[in-house]
Amino acid sequence: MADKDCIFCKIARHKIPSKIVYEDEDIIAFRDIDPKAPVHIILIPKTHIPSIKELIETDEKIIGKIHRISQKIAEDESIAQSGFRIVANTGPDAGQAVAHLHFHLIGGRKLSWPPG
Ligand code: 5GP
Ligand code: ZN
Repeated sequence: MADKDCIFCKIARHKIPSKIVYEDEDIIAFRDIDPKAPVHIILIPKTHIPSIKELIETDEKIIGKIHRISQKIAEDESIAQSGFRIVANTGPDAGQAVAHLHFHLIGGRKLSWPPG
């Protein structure tokens, strides 16, 4: 299901343009418009799920698939060996700005820890 006001639903349906790096029937991955590292890709389920907080049992498969596709994208982007981070900001304290579940795949530079 799509949410008519959701920017990531619009990206998933090609209603607004994005730099797509991977797509199948369940998932779309595209370059972040405001990258925080040399590689910064957003992976989303095409179905509208607001965040990790709303996941239900039948979503377990798609969450696993997103991680497997992240592995493939990391290889394609040449950061599989150097390392990368996958982040899902959830709720206000984490700074989640877009209420459509998304995973940031970030790499291509040394990433500090802990995050701010
Ligand atoms: P959040 O802060 O919700 O975890 O991350 C949302 C991310 O989506 C941000 O890194 C932001 O730059 C990115 N973003 C927001 N709007 C767009 C858009 O229209 N296109 C693309 N490609 N990225 C977007
Ligand atoms: Zn959405």
